[in-house]
Amino acid sequence: MARPPRRSQPSLPRLPRDEVDDYSRAAVDARRALAEAATKLELAQIAGAAVPFESARGNCEGLIGFAQVPLGLAGPLVVDTSRGMREVYVPMATNEGALVASHSRGMRLLAAAGGARSRVVREGLTQAPIFVYADAKGALAAREFVDGERRTFTKLVAGTTRHGKLVDVRTDVVGRRLVVELTFTTGDAIGINMAARATELVAARIAKRTRALEHALHGQDVEKRANARANYSGRGRSVVCDATVPRKALAAFARTTPEALRALWHTYQIGFARLSTENRCVQSANGLAAVMLACGQDVAYLTECANGFLDFDVTASGDLHASVTLPSLLVGTVGGGSAKGTAAESLALLGCAGDGGANTFAEILGGVVLAGDLSLMAAFATHEFVAAHEKLGRNRPR
Ligand code: NAP
Repeated sequence: MARPPRRSQPSLPRLPRDEVDDYSRAAVDARRALAEAATKLELAQIAGAAVPFESARGNCEGLIGFAQVPLGLAGPLVVDTSRGMREVYVPMATNEGALVASHSRGMRLLAAAGGARSRVVREGLTQAPIFVYADAKGALAAREFVDGERRTFTKLVAGTTRHGKLVDVRTDVVGRRLVVELTFTTGDAIGINMAARATELVAARIAKRTRALEHALHGQDVEKRANARANYSGRGRSVVCDATVPRKALAAFARTTPEALRALWHTYQIGFARLSTENRCVQSANGLAAVMLACGQDVAYLTECANGFLDFDVTASGDLHASVTLPSLLVGTVGGGSAKGTAAESLALLGCAGDGGANTFAEILGGVVLAGDLSLMAAFATHEFVAAHEKLGRNRPR
């Protein structure tokens, strides 16, 4: 991967802040107008135009209206993606004061690095039905059948979906049970509906032809739960994002040094190891939840998405190399709630709505997480974390 060209400032202007009242209508309108002008987009529904009730069809039953969550803009985020260099304002829906400001600060550090570089390194949504036989001999015989049927399965799946593709079939025998792990690429959707439908067909064929006593469609179920497998093998889209942040920028924007951040990262890794946590980033869940909520994603997938690894090193030139690896991003720019209401406008703001946008969206999410972790670690290193929350993130009832 070639390094993105170094640029000291993003070409998108920094978002204005009103020192007198940043929550006044004028301040909010000015910020949104700037984003609209910079991106040549009209954000009518984010501005308050009603979202049609009809748009919730297929997404929510028993509709009574729409929940309102504050939506802020962070950035600009400068990130080199598989579709080229991007500069974007990032929509974040959250009730956590200090979260948007923290990510904006991290994005400033990434801009000073010439941008982050982010890539989807693996794609594949898994489903793993389990089949039960009288004994291990039966399970082993069924495994042989499955191994000989791969082409048939691929054809079966191709008959049910235009964008879903069966790309791998793995088997494992556990006692008298056979686990069949099917991996699909899913175009620009999370693809769980197409994968579930295809798996149902394939599983029915396996069960019938191998005379399984019973089978569980989602047998080895990692769906929407933190799991060790996802960190190792990935699920959905796996993203690696890195940047080399100049020492000077760390001093200027975050009052810290590469050595201080590296030392603190080391201490955190020991804490994480003691807890055996699957998530070795520091605030991946925060940034991901806020952008996923803004962009109409299924936020229950955060249980898988937020897992990952943060890494800090001091380079030979004395700067900070920072990376995040997010092995299981279950996100889409087609399907679910992604094309509707404020979510569609938020994805458009990121320049990745609809067909062809999912990998770029995942890569932008990598940049968001890297920015958030850089900023939070800097706040921990300088002991400014509590003060920042006291200033920006308290709502004491009067
Ligand atoms: P989806 O809403 O089912 O939409 C995907 C559909 O869009 C497919 O039918 C696909 O057609 C079509 N499509 C058109 N252009 C496409 C493109 N460029 N890339 C991919 N597909 C394209 O989306 P989903 O991601 O499968 O499902 C997400 C929703 O399912 C979420 O709301 C989630 O909460 C919910 N969900 C379902 C389950 C389950 O087990 N069923 C579990 C958890 C969550 P083709 O198939 O013909 O390609």
